[in-house]
Amino acid sequence: MKEEAKLQTKIIKFLRHEGRFVIKTQGGTPGTDTGTPDVITIYPDGRLIGLEIKRPDGGGVVSPEQKAIGKQINRNNGLWYVIDSWEKFEEVWRNVTTFI
Ligand SMILES: [Mg+2]
Repeated sequence: MKEEAKLQTKIIKFLRHEGRFVIKTQGGTPGTDTGTPDVITIYPDGRLIGLEIKRPDGGGVVSPEQKAIGKQINRNNGLWYVIDSWEKFEEVWRNVTTFI
């Protein structure tokens, strides 16, 4: 399994274990816009959280479509993050759960 897929699987398992609603998307396939975050979840206050997962070696590039959708999510009071390591995910999750 590729490193990005491994990280993604670990995050999805964690979120499901936490009882979160989780969608794993396949951006760019029929019905799903290119740039759609890899993982979408909802915080208990109703806010959407979009996670764009990138490979942990830092070689992943956030595409213009992904950035545009991230901005759109933010404009709509959702949260959008680029995640390229488990540590980054933990940091983001800690922040999300602390400021609410
Ligand atoms: Mg990705």
